[in-house]
Amino acid sequence: MKIHEYQAKSLLKKNGVPVQDGIAINDMKYYDEVIKVLRDKGVTQFVVKSQIHAGGRGKGKVYSKDNRDELIAEGGVKFVGKDAEKGKEYASKLLGNILVTHQTGNEGKEVRTLFIAEGIDYKKELYIGILLDRAVSRNVIMASTEGGVEIEKVAEETPEKIIKVWVDPSGGLLSYQARELAFGLGLEGEVFKDFVKFITNLYKAYINLDASLLEVNPLVITDDNKVLALDAKVTLDDNAFFRHKDYDGLRDENEEDPLELEASKYNLNYIKLDGNVGCMVNGAGLAMGTMDLIKLAGGSPANFLDVGGTATPETVENGFKIILSDKNVKAILINIFGGIVRCDRVATGVVQAANNIHITIPVVVRLQGTNAEEAKKILDESGLNLISAITLEEAAAKVTEAISN
Ligand code: GDP
Ligand code: MG
Repeated sequence: MKIHEYQAKSLLKKNGVPVQDGIAINDMKYYDEVIKVLRDKGVTQFVVKSQIHAGGRGKGKVYSKDNRDELIAEGGVKFVGKDAEKGKEYASKLLGNILVTHQTGNEGKEVRTLFIAEGIDYKKELYIGILLDRAVSRNVIMASTEGGVEIEKVAEETPEKIIKVWVDPSGGLLSYQARELAFGLGLEGEVFKDFVKFITNLYKAYINLDASLLEVNPLVITDDNKVLALDAKVTLDDNAFFRHKDYDGLRDENEEDPLELEASKYNLNYIKLDGNVGCMVNGAGLAMGTMDLIKLAGGSPANFLDVGGTATPETVENGFKIILSDKNVKAILINIFGGIVRCDRVATGVVQAANNIHITIPVVVRLQGTNAEEAKKILDESGLNLISAITLEEAAAKVTEAISN
């Protein structure tokens, strides 16, 4: 699950990672009060930051929600120094309008929350990212002197400017590794020591929070030589939520794809794609294989959908509903291997769903494994107009053909 910058910073702060003071608002009526609270804490400079689940906000463009052609402001993040009134004017342009960045796509995202925070004067921007390197089964810490810019560009054009340290899970981040990063970033004196402490706590935070990604871009060296996370992007590992009951409140449903959200309520693993063949499959591996073969047959999958190992008639019906809510879907391929789940139960689900939902597009069905014969009988006797297939290649070819007809 992705979370907002202000939420990430609050979690990092609890884990001893320095961040600036700030307060999130969802209505301009709170702006003056927030400025007052921050001033009372000694804050004299301000920055207004749009909170959306996408990066590149600084270089983004803000368009009117009512008229998407009307450019309202350049930049979804604005440092306004001591001028809180200018910040207010800017904040009212951002809130409720649409921010488009290189990560949001053209449709952009509505800014529903703003983070009003202490504006920082700094002399250096660095980059830190922590994530799992699956190839070596270890977390990797990446650091670069090229902070503040798109790290993808640095990785492509000047990969030697990214330093990497792999952490052994049994020992955690070792002090020599933390120093190696600090040396690599060219730090010296007090800043060197502060950075070592910073990265040690940041890595601990990554572990304690059960994060799957933690990116600080930029990490800054302030004018008074402090090391601080100016930006924070954290993705939390959904599989660890049983350990973090407090994470429930961090979910922002506005930021999620409505269909994916609906699917998660039914325990379906659904990811929307931009093709036109709806797929209903059990097992992630089979789902990937099915998508590959659709591509090979010249088609394009509209989604990844794993109905799980215990597909019941209800699961199948819910799967249909989700797939059909995507208006791009022109045909459906059901590919179920009956192992734990019996094919006849899936067939019953297909018939039940087809009777309850009005399905007007072609449906290709491939049911193999336990009770496949019984399943075929149920489908044949249902009177429904289904196209059956025996092999996966055949199924993929038939569904692609059904769309071109
Ligand atoms: P992103 O564009 O979504 O990654 O958002 P960031 O939080 O990284 O902010 C974008 C840019 O705004 C930063 O790279 C800085 O250049 C600028 N910025 C953000 N906060 C401050 C601040 O407190 N002081 C100054 N001087 N600039 C800031
Ligand atoms: Mg950033």
